[in-house]
Amino acid sequence: MTVTTTQQPAAPPATGTTTAPTTPGGPARRPPPPPPPPPPLGVAYGRRPGRAAVQVLTGVDLEARAGEVLGIIGESGSGKTTLARAVVGLAPAVAGRITLDGRDVTALRGRALRELRRSGVVQYMFQDPLRSLDPDLTVSQLIGEPLAVAGVARPAREPRVLAALEQVGLDATLADRTPGRLSGGQRQRVSLARAVVTRPRLLLADEPVSALDASNRNHVLRLLDRLRHELDLAVVVISHDLGSLAGIADRIAVLYGGRLVEQGPAEQVLERPLHPYTALLAGSAPGLPRERRSAAALLRGSGPVDDPLLHTGAACVFAHRCPFADDDCRSRPEPRQQGDGRTVACHRAPAWRERLAH
Ligand code: SF4
Repeated sequence: MTVTTTQQPAAPPATGTTTAPTTPGGPARRPPPPPPPPPPLGVAYGRRPGRAAVQVLTGVDLEARAGEVLGIIGESGSGKTTLARAVVGLAPAVAGRITLDGRDVTALRGRALRELRRSGVVQYMFQDPLRSLDPDLTVSQLIGEPLAVAGVARPAREPRVLAALEQVGLDATLADRTPGRLSGGQRQRVSLARAVVTRPRLLLADEPVSALDASNRNHVLRLLDRLRHELDLAVVVISHDLGSLAGIADRIAVLYGGRLVEQGPAEQVLERPLHPYTALLAGSAPGLPRERRSAAALLRGSGPVDDPLLHTGAACVFAHRCPFADDDCRSRPEPRQQGDGRTVACHRAPAWRERLAH
């Protein structure tokens, strides 16, 4: 997984002119080639002598970019939370690398890893603020805590705490309250203030709105949307609900069974899914057109597939549920580029979509 927290370079001019710097009197100097992308990420738990590890994430290749929201969607067990935990060093990466602005953070150990964590450059926003916030600390102490860990001197903390409160739309009069005296929406905004107070480059938000009512959900999503622009922040939002990503994600990555099955620009992934599992998710999201709901009904109603060869580890990870599975699907498809920044891991993409029309 690559995290690029600097702005993407502007596209080259379409006039055919070169942007390479030139040497006076000499030929154009070629820029150095970009570094090769890191290999796809794998995560396994329980690697001990004499005991088989449980592989929970395999071959995941994603990029989070500054100022963008990357939505990661999948059901329970898909590996989406593991992916986020691996980025902050809470889950063991056994293959591939996670790079942060070109720096391999998977290789960091000891002091270097502690320094990265303390710096607050990468922040993790937990799903349940009631459990993640210390009930005995005040709002002001909770938001100041990451600054203290990062080594910010006490006098400099207070104005930054107040600024963070303002950034998330909370009144300064709440600074002395404990989490138990806040509403659910206010607690989640305190979590967000805690996450952004260190001016991170990457924010991982794990199901940030799943515990909130509709009004607070929209409020927190709008905040995330605003803050990524204001702070030029790379935001990764993890969710099981495609609907909550639809309004803010620039790109969407779909995980199933620990594998990346599809990714691409949000609008295209939602409007024209290339993987049957994505189509099922898109069709199940509330408030969608009728034709998409009928596609979901077809995919949902297909039931388990009988062929035992489609249930092996060598088969496509979705084969046991897929109504379009055939002999080819006994071997696992690798993610393939589809143009326009999209990739999909399906032998039948996009041809399977024609069957939806019948
Ligand atoms: S590869 Fe085959 S089983 Fe897997 S999603 Fe595509 S059609 Fe379905």
